[in-house]
Amino acid sequence: MKLIYEQNAFLLDVCKLRSFIYNSEPEIFVTGGELLRTPEQQKIYFDTGRSKTMDSNHLKKLAIDLNFIKDGKLISDKKALQKFGDFWEILNPLNRAGMNFKSIYDPGHFERNLP
Ligand SMILES: [Zn+2]
Repeated sequence: MKLIYEQNAFLLDVCKLRSFIYNSEPEIFVTGGELLRTPEQQKIYFDTGRSKTMDSNHLKKLAIDLNFIKDGKLISDKKALQKFGDFWEILNPLNRAGMNFKSIYDPGHFERNLP
C-alpha cells in the first residue's frame, strides 16, 4: 500500500474525529499540534523521554497531536477524553489513540499504523 493512500485515509479519519468531537461536545475547542516531525525533532523527544520510539508515525505524517480545551483550560484527563480515543480506534483497525498506549499516556496523540 502506498504511503500517500494511508496519509489520505488518515486525514479523512481526523476529519471524522473532529466532527465527532464537535457533535458530542461542541463546547470543547480543538487545536492542532504536530503532524509532521523531523528525525532531528524525534531524536530530541526520544532523548528527553517525551517519546519512547525513534519510529514515530509523525515521521510519516500518520500521526497528529490535538489539544483539547474547555473553559480556557487544556484537558488531558483520560475520563473526559476516552470516548474520543475509542471513536478513533473504531474508525479503522490500524488507528491507535495515544491515551491507550501502555508505554506512555499521550492523550492528544492520534495515529494510524501502516498495514
Ligand atoms: Zn503525537
